[in-house]
Amino acid sequence: MTDEETWPELASDERGPVPTVAVVGRPNVGKSTLVNRILGRRAAVVQDEPGVTRDRVAYDAEWAGKEFSLVDTGGWDPDAEGMARSIALQAELAMRTADVIVFVVDSRVGPTDADEAAVKILRTTKKPVVLVANKVDSERQESEIHELWSLGLGEPFPISALHGRNSGDLLDKIVWAFPEVPTGALKERGPRKVALVGRPNVGKSSLLNRIAGEERAVVDNVAGTTVDPVDSLVEIDGEDFVLVDTAGLRKRVKFASGTEYYAALRTEAAVEAAEVALVLLDASEQISEQDQRVLTQVTESGRAMVLAFNKWDLVDDDRRYYLEKEIDRELGQVSWAPRVNVSATTGRAVEKIARALREALGGWGQRISTGELNQWISALQAATPHPVRANKAPKVIYATQAAAEPPRFILFTNAPFEKQYLKFIQRKLREDFGFPGTPIDLVVKPRE
Ligand code: GDP
Ligand code: GDP
Repeated sequence: MTDEETWPELASDERGPVPTVAVVGRPNVGKSTLVNRILGRRAAVVQDEPGVTRDRVAYDAEWAGKEFSLVDTGGWDPDAEGMARSIALQAELAMRTADVIVFVVDSRVGPTDADEAAVKILRTTKKPVVLVANKVDSERQESEIHELWSLGLGEPFPISALHGRNSGDLLDKIVWAFPEVPTGALKERGPRKVALVGRPNVGKSSLLNRIAGEERAVVDNVAGTTVDPVDSLVEIDGEDFVLVDTAGLRKRVKFASGTEYYAALRTEAAVEAAEVALVLLDASEQISEQDQRVLTQVTESGRAMVLAFNKWDLVDDDRRYYLEKEIDRELGQVSWAPRVNVSATTGRAVEKIARALREALGGWGQRISTGELNQWISALQAATPHPVRANKAPKVIYATQAAAEPPRFILFTNAPFEKQYLKFIQRKLREDFGFPGTPIDLVVKPRE
C-alpha cells in the first residue's frame, strides 16, 4: 500500500480492545457534565451503541497516555419506581461490560432510594467502583458528603464536574483502577455463552426448563467456568453451554408495566453478556413487529444469531406454507442465521439447537487472511467493477479483516463507494466464504 499516512485513522475498536469505563447514576446528578469534562475540548468520536437505550453512547477518551472507552449510560424512566428498576438494570449492564464503574451521586441531594437500588447491585461486583460525589463546588461543601459513606461503596470522591474541581484526581483514580487485561480482550474459556431471547410468550421459560430442568438450572460454580448466579449451565446434545441472564426466566419474573421497555433492556443485558443469541419465535403466530425489534437489537449487537421457531407442535401443513412465505418476506435481513424448528412442550428437535449454535459461532469467529482477501477482491473487481462515477473508477486498493466476532472488514479505496456495490461485495463474501449466523461489517475508508 502506498501513501499510508493519508489514510484516515482507525477508531479504537479497530486497534484492539481498550478498557471500558461506564458512568452510571440517576438523571441530573451530572453524568453528562462529567463525561464532557473528561473528554475536554477534544472532538469526541461518537459511536452509536446499538440497543434500546438510544442515548447510551461510547466515546474514545484518554488520560495520562492511557486510552479507554467512556460509556455514558442513558435511557431513564421518569417515574420514581421505574427509575429504581431502570438504574438497577443499568448497573447490572455496567457490571457485565465495563472494566471500571463510575457511580455518580449528587452530593447536594444525598443518597436516594434509586441510588440505594443501584448500590445493592454494584456491591456484588468484583470490578472497581468509584463513588463520585458530584457538585462539590467548594472545599466548604466537602464536609457535607460524609453521609455518602452509608452507601457502602467506600470513600466518596468529591468533585465538581461543572467547574472541574478534582476531576484530574478522579481520572488518575479511574486510570489506576484499569485491569491488566481489559474485559474485551479476555479470551473466552469453557462453554460458549448463549442469550435466550424473544418477545414475551414465545416460550423462553418453557425452553429453558426443557433444556435445563428446574434443578440443573441453578449452577454457579463449575470448574474452569465462570457462571454468574444469574446464568444457567446447561447441556444440549451432550455439549455444555452457558445460558446467560436467565434468572428472570427461572423466576418467571414478568414486569406488569412498561413491559416492552424492560423486555428490551433485559434483551440488551443478556445479549451483551453472550456470544450468540438464540432468538425464539412463535411458529404458530405471525412474525410481529416486536419480533423484528428483537432481531434488529440482536443484529446491531454484533453477536452471532440462531433463529428457533418454537411451538412447532402447533404447526400444520397450512401454517407451514404461510410461515415459509412470511420468512421470505420478513426475515430477509437475517437470512444468514441458521434456523431450527423446535417444540419446548414436546422436546422436538431441541438437541438440534446445539449444532445451529456451533455453526453460528463458527461464522462469527471466522477469519480470512489478508492475502486471500485481497486476491479475492481483485478477482471480484476485475469481473464486476464498481460503476464509473464522475470519470473516476472507484476501486478497493487494499482490504483487510480487522476483526472477528463479528467479522469486520476494512476496505481502503481511492474514492467513496456506493451502497449498492458494498451490498454486492457483502453478498459475494457470504457466497464464497460462508459466515453463517453472523452479521458482517464492511467499513470503507476512502483516501482523502
Ligand atoms: P445527567 O442527567 O446525570 O447527565 O446530568 P447533567 O450533566 O445533565 O447535569 C444536570 C444538572 O446539574 C445541570 O444543570 C448541570 O449544569 C448541573 N451540574 C452538573 N455538575 C455540576 C457540578 O459539579 N456543580 C453544580 N453546581 N452543578 C452541576
Ligand atoms: P416466555 O414468556 O417467552 O418465557 O414464554 P413461556 O415459556 O412462558 O410460554 C408462553 C406460553 O406458551 C405458555 O403457555 C407455554 O406453555 C406455551 N408454550 C411454550 N412453548 C410451547 C411449545 O413448544 N408448544 C406449545 N404448544 N406451547 C408452548
